[in-house]
Parts: sequence; structure tokens; C-alpha cells
Amino acid sequence: MSTGTFWLISIVAAVAIAFLLPRAVRGARAYFKFRGKRLVTCPETHRPAAVEVDAAKAAVAGAATAQHLELSQCSRWPEKAGCGQECLRQIEAAPVDCLVRTIVTRWYSGKACAICGKIIHEVEWLGHKPALRNPEGKTIYWDAVSAEKLPDVFATHGPVCWDCHVAETLLREHPELVVMRSPKWYP
Ligand SMILES: [Zn+2]
Repeated sequence: MSTGTFWLISIVAAVAIAFLLPRAVRGARAYFKFRGKRLVTCPETHRPAAVEVDAAKAAVAGAATAQHLELSQCSRWPEKAGCGQECLRQIEAAPVDCLVRTIVTRWYSGKACAICGKIIHEVEWLGHKPALRNPEGKTIYWDAVSAEKLPDVFATHGPVCWDCHVAETLLREHPELVVMRSPKWYP
């Protein structure tokens, strides 16, 4: 390769990177900003609906310094798949606040476990996930509840730490494996 060709290729590559890199960064920012399940108030029913923005399309538009939001999922679909998606305005106005992840984190944060009283400081998403206890005392993981039902469930259920949920589940499903000892047996 001649020196002239080398420099020509280098200049073309540098121009291409200078052109593409900012677009890639903007696209990635839009993708991460709009991905994830969110809770909105459906403008038609005034009830919670769980929705997801098409983050890939938002990223493509974001790369070209535009904003394009459309839903890829809604808990009211397929019945209401042709709706006007007016709820997107709520997402534009507060993209972080309506994330299910944010709502769940804020609800648990600083609450005491309804069984052992331990404060739940942080929500673990994969391993030791926190749970909920219904008024009858049965515990379930929070993500076993459909996202659109979470606001109602949060109003009627208590927070439960992972340890207590596991112990309660074992007691409920395999009582023969559990030995209850009175605390008075211990000094
Ligand atoms: Zn507990």
C-alpha cells in the first residue's frame, strides 16, 4: 500500500468515525432511556396499564436527533391495540418515574419486613428478591404480580424480605420438614 493510499484510508476512517460515533452514542442513550416496563394511567380507563416503549425504534430516531416513541407492548392489548397511545405523553414527561423498577424500588425502600421487622434497604432483582404478604398472610414474590396490578397490590399487601418469604413458603408447602422450636429453649 502506498503512503498516499494509507493516508486516504485513514482520513476516510476518521471522518466516518467522527460522523457515526455521536449518532451511535445518541442512539444508545435513547435505547437505555426508553427500554423497560412502565406503569402509566390509561387515558381511557384512568386505571394503571403496563406498557413498553419500542426502544429499538427510539434508538434509531435518537441517532438522528429526533424523538420517536411508540409502544411495543401494553397490558390492554390485543383488545386495545389500535388505541392512540396518548399515554406516551406520561412517559415523555417522566421516563424514569414511571418505570416499574423505579416504582418497586421506591415502594420497598426503607420499609420494614411485615414478618421479621428487618428494614429493606435495597431491592435485589435476580437473587434474593423481596416479596409481598396478602391480608390472609400468604407471601408471593413481587414480580409474580402483573405489573398493572402492582398499585392495587401495594395498597393492600405488606412488604416481606426474601428470608421470610422462603421460610413462609417452606412452612406452607412442606410443613413436615419444619420443626418449630420455642425461643424459651435457648438461653
Ligand atoms: Zn423478614
